[in-house]
Amino acid sequence: MPDCDNEFWKTVPLQAMNKTQWEALCDRCAKCCLHRFEERKTRQIQFTNVCCRYLDRESGDCRDYPNRSRNVPDCVRVTLAVLEDPYWLPESCAYRLLAERKALPQWHPLVSGDPHTVVSSGNFVGGWAVCELETDNLEHHLIDWVR
Ligand code: SF4
Ligand code: SF4
Repeated sequence: MPDCDNEFWKTVPLQAMNKTQWEALCDRCAKCCLHRFEERKTRQIQFTNVCCRYLDRESGDCRDYPNRSRNVPDCVRVTLAVLEDPYWLPESCAYRLLAERKALPQWHPLVSGDPHTVVSSGNFVGGWAVCELETDNLEHHLIDWVR
């Protein structure tokens, strides 16, 4: 766990967070590494169970994090500008939650104090995601349990 002040996310606005605090917000669920579809008119997002080829499904790490934007041009890079309209991020994403002035869930490592609660609560995608290299039709992989 990163060395952060107690419950900083309740008092420090996103705009004022330092790098350590900002990084600590990421629960490492890897939901943002799943392919998804967007209904343009309604902006409704539907996830698939198919993940990016660079996702290490055991650890949840990106296999080439420094080059992720070059490897995958639409790889999510969460910034303050993105958070002005974060509808396309997972509903459970800590950045989106705070941008929408909502509380972090009990399973978030900053709240639980235990990084394993992301897995035990079923919020880590690594256990069930299919690598994009193992499928050629994303529309066969639509799911409705990831939000
Ligand atoms: S969805 Fe949000 S909290 Fe989860 S890994 Fe992506 S950036 Fe981190
Ligand atoms: S490049 Fe890395 S961070 Fe980006 S979507 Fe793929 S696995 Fe996730």
